[in-house]
Amino acid sequence: MVNAVAVLKGGPSVTGTILLSQENESASTVIKGTITGLKKGNHGFHIHEFGDNTNGCVSAGAHYNPHGKNHGAPDKDIRHTGDLGNVFANDDGVAEFTKTDNQVKLIGPYSVIG
Ligand SMILES: [Zn+2]
Repeated sequence: MVNAVAVLKGGPSVTGTILLSQENESASTVIKGTITGLKKGNHGFHIHEFGDNTNGCVSAGAHYNPHGKNHGAPDKDIRHTGDLGNVFANDDGVAEFTKTDNQVKLIGPYSVIG
């Protein structure tokens, strides 16, 4: 079992914590998150190439795409590994979600850690 955490900070008020865990190399990864301070509605949720959000999507780089595929929906084979669809923020601006994904890995050569 490998666990990882991503701490999100964006804009003046948006913060979040994303917990990831993968039981073994062939298992899907479970991604549990809470993000607060969002506008109500759907927000695109991606893993980017770099863990640097100091200049938003410029410093974060492209969507994590180690297999050189096109952007796509998370339930498709043709997608960036980092393409994880949307998360929905409620009236209070809070998105709480759990996703299970078979392309995001914490174990092996394409681990998203780092
Ligand atoms: Zn993408």
